[in-house]
Amino acid sequence: MKTVGALLAWLQASFSEHHWSDSRREATELLSSFLDISPGDLFFQLEKPLTEQEWESASQWLKRRLQGEPLAYISGSVDFYDCKITVNSHVLIPRQETEILVDRIVEELATEDLSNRTLWDLCTGSGCIGIALKKRFPALTVYLSDISAEALAVTAKNAEENRVHVELKQGNLLEPFKGLKTHYLVCNPPYISMEEYKQLDSSVLDFEPKLALVGGVHGDEFYQKLAAQLPHYLFPHGKVWLEIGFQQGERVRQLFNDPFWVKKEIENDWAGHQRFFFLETE
Ligand code: GLN
Repeated sequence: MKTVGALLAWLQASFSEHHWSDSRREATELLSSFLDISPGDLFFQLEKPLTEQEWESASQWLKRRLQGEPLAYISGSVDFYDCKITVNSHVLIPRQETEILVDRIVEELATEDLSNRTLWDLCTGSGCIGIALKKRFPALTVYLSDISAEALAVTAKNAEENRVHVELKQGNLLEPFKGLKTHYLVCNPPYISMEEYKQLDSSVLDFEPKLALVGGVHGDEFYQKLAAQLPHYLFPHGKVWLEIGFQQGERVRQLFNDPFWVKKEIENDWAGHQRFFFLETE
């Protein structure tokens, strides 16, 4: 009989046959995502019968997963902060580190009066950061921008699915904001160097968009541009939150050396790596 339990066993055996190191975890993750239930709940449903068609679709998921495709692209969405975020191959899969970034920003914005205040999320990709913030702070006016039209189509879908009203702009970094100023700005730009890119795991290299990953030859191109241009785009006492590569702390500190920046702080992620750079203007 085709049950959830039998499918779980078959998935695990398949991963194991293909020498995946943690076949049980892989099978559990795939199946709970496929059935759209938590891994914990999966174990209360082991006896549940499955249709022929469900079994067949799950085996299609397995086929893609065995080729190294990230589960998020196969299922088409991830949970991020308080949102369900749709993803496809035009956008980066939101990372858990980025939830720390949102958490830090929430902490800070919670103490401020946000009426008539704007926040820009540059290189928004799926829109995960800006959408999560808008959901948490409906009074804030949020603009999301990205250079890729395909990515912005995903952003728009996510805004709609999470029922938030945000403004979308297409263009390279600050270009679509010419002549405007903001109070808050967040950006998780592409920050990997060409050298690092070549060494990425194939699950990233073969499936995630290069455009969202590589920040020029040395990985710091977007920080260079932001350091040079941001002073024209911020109101007094503006706040900027950036995600950075774990070896880029000193480099970004150097880049943002203008006395215009009255506060500069590097913060770590859960793994203890330097991962965020927070700035405030005079
Ligand atoms: N802002 C999106 C994220 O944090 C995309 C970032 C990017 O494409 N570099 O996941």
